[in-house]
Amino acid sequence: MAESEHRRVLIVGSGPAGYTAAIYAARAELEPVVVAGLQFGGQLMLTTDVENYPGFPDGVTGPEMMELFQKQAERFGAKVLLEDATEVSLDGPPFRVKTASAEFSADALIVATGASAKWIGLESEQRLQNRGVSACATCDGALFRGKPMAVVGGGDTAMEEALFLTRFASQVTVIHRRDSLRASKIMQERALDHEKIDFAWNSVVDEVLGEEFVTGVRLRDVAGGGTRELPVEALFVAIGHEPNTALFRGGLDLDPAGYIRVERGTRTSVEGVFACGDVMDPTYRQAVTAAGSGCMAAIDAERWLAEQGLA
Ligand code: NAP
Repeated sequence: MAESEHRRVLIVGSGPAGYTAAIYAARAELEPVVVAGLQFGGQLMLTTDVENYPGFPDGVTGPEMMELFQKQAERFGAKVLLEDATEVSLDGPPFRVKTASAEFSADALIVATGASAKWIGLESEQRLQNRGVSACATCDGALFRGKPMAVVGGGDTAMEEALFLTRFASQVTVIHRRDSLRASKIMQERALDHEKIDFAWNSVVDEVLGEEFVTGVRLRDVAGGGTRELPVEALFVAIGHEPNTALFRGGLDLDPAGYIRVERGTRTSVEGVFACGDVMDPTYRQAVTAAGSGCMAAIDAERWLAEQGLA
């Protein structure tokens, strides 16, 4: 039978946003529980070196950084449960969250379930993740200095990633499945005019090549039907992100892309429910901005609890 436990604050999600919310909530003596998920740590667990998080002048790996975040939250009394939230009831307070082995109720809920990069769906793409295949140019681009690279996608993210990669790459090839881009005009122009960027139009990646590390991609021409190999040492997949909001659909106001709408800091459409990190941020999507919004969510929750006489 599931144990049931009441807490002042419950946090769902365990990337930089969730753990930072936990550090602040724990230090405010709200004894938070973090429902961290089976894939705890969020997208940083898929990253190698993090070189842009302040305070780590020599860099840190994503998993190491998330372990440090978790330790810091636990040091102040946060309880971390490595299980997925399977059911959420927003009819509160108290709000209710179920996992496989536990059931919690809480006066305030902080949603930090993040977003997941969309992948092409190839076995070779999965096998070579962190070995040249990445979904984050900002995180991993500098690791391939002086090498040819490719970006898949035709939207703003793909153009942004391609333009960013020109700082390091010898050449960037944008692989797009159509012959025109979806990106905004200004981003298109910047990419089309850039001397280091070329385009593989009407092309899809059939296979990522390489045994241990990426050595190239096999492209299929969707118009003509032929295939060709493009030698690259890194492939950045930039075909969009999906916010992890399935549990909250129908309960919280979401924007058309599925991100949680917030106002006045991190307040959602349900009083007492706060959102932080990539689940509410389609724009910046950085570890440091996620951590910042996690701090905001904990402070917003603490003040809201005090206003309700629940702190
Ligand atoms: P997006 O606009 O949805 O574009 C995704 C791109 O990936 C499209 O070109 C799409 O092709 C392609 N694609 C999707 N699935 C694919 C697949 N399975 N195989 C190959 N290609 C695939 O996503 P986004 O670029 O991440 O942008 C998301 C939102 O954030 C947009 O509203 C964007 O404007 C905004 N954003 C803004 C900025 C900025 O203003 N600086 C930066 C980043 C993002 P099709 O075109 O054929 O559908």
